[in-house]
Amino acid sequence: MTVHTTRMLIVGSGPAGFSAAIYGARAGMQPIVVQGTQPGGQLTITTDVENYPGFRDVIQGPWLMQEMQAQAEHVGTRVIWDTVVSVDLSTGSPYRAIGDSGDEYLGDVLVIATGAQAKWLGVPGEQELGGKGVSACATCDGFFYRGKKVAVIGGGNTAVEEALYLTHHATEVTLIHRRDELRAERILQDRLFAHPKISVIWNKRVERFLGDPLDGGLTGLALVDTLTGEASTHSTEGAFVAIGHAPATELFKGQLEMDEGGYIVVEPGTPKTNRPGVFACGDVMDPIYRQAVTAAGTGCMAALDAERYLATLEFARTEAQAAHA
Ligand code: NAP
Repeated sequence: MTVHTTRMLIVGSGPAGFSAAIYGARAGMQPIVVQGTQPGGQLTITTDVENYPGFRDVIQGPWLMQEMQAQAEHVGTRVIWDTVVSVDLSTGSPYRAIGDSGDEYLGDVLVIATGAQAKWLGVPGEQELGGKGVSACATCDGFFYRGKKVAVIGGGNTAVEEALYLTHHATEVTLIHRRDELRAERILQDRLFAHPKISVIWNKRVERFLGDPLDGGLTGLALVDTLTGEASTHSTEGAFVAIGHAPATELFKGQLEMDEGGYIVVEPGTPKTNRPGVFACGDVMDPIYRQAVTAAGTGCMAALDAERYLATLEFARTEAQAAHA
């Protein structure tokens, strides 16, 4: 077991974590980033990124994250391939975290940038057929559906983007939504409705995923009309669940203030949690915007506030030592 000590411990390696690291390293806080189970975060399971400022041409999510990591390392960040499995915030600074490797991490400040993960419907067949026709990531698994019929479940930006992306591989894409209007941005809706490969089934919820995981995988979906209750089936070889995300905050339950959705509550307009020296940035504290650029912005804010917090802490320690001398 190794003990890693740092002035700034960052948990999570998406745009929030690496932006905090870049600012933190440049301010001399010698940050450590513990990467987590999905190094690079959600952008590594995205392909085209068209809305990150500074790039006129379409860029790729995994490439953007490699660049952020390279920049963070270049300015002095240590990136460690480990996953934090427990934290103890009760002792105050330095904050202590334990990694899956058994290593211990001690940070004078803690920056939480653990992000969010896809939500599942929780209906029969979903888990059993996971990886056998059921997925929550079109950009990861879409390739396997070349020449096949697929469905996407959901009505937000993610669902529409996934449906559009899947048209590169599948022959037919059906979007299934529980209401009769989408909540996705208008520009995405326009692209969806104009696409010749895409059709929409309105007012239907998925009651069950059909098929045998040991014999051919997913074959279809059992649907129920949300207005009439009428049952029907929709045959498909692939189903992509795209109904939103849940924040990765399990580690901090009972230790930090959270809202009813499990997002970490911060002081409005800042990344400050209810514990001094613990900052939250990116999707883990943002149920509204959830963009790479907003995550990067709050990561920067976390580093700036961490620097101020450490300066105050160190000043107080020096004063106390002088008083005892
Ligand atoms: P979202 O906006 O919360 O949409 C979730 C969708 O799933 C909604 O249409 C919802 O239906 C549906 N849904 C939720 N639970 C369901 C259930 N149990 N059964 C069936 N349907 C269910 O989530 P998101 O699309 O992942 O987007 C999250 C945030 O990220 C948003 O702020 C979005 O704007 C942003 N985002 C932006 C981009 C971009 O700018 N390029 C890309 C992706 C995401 P109802 O509509 O009926 O509630």
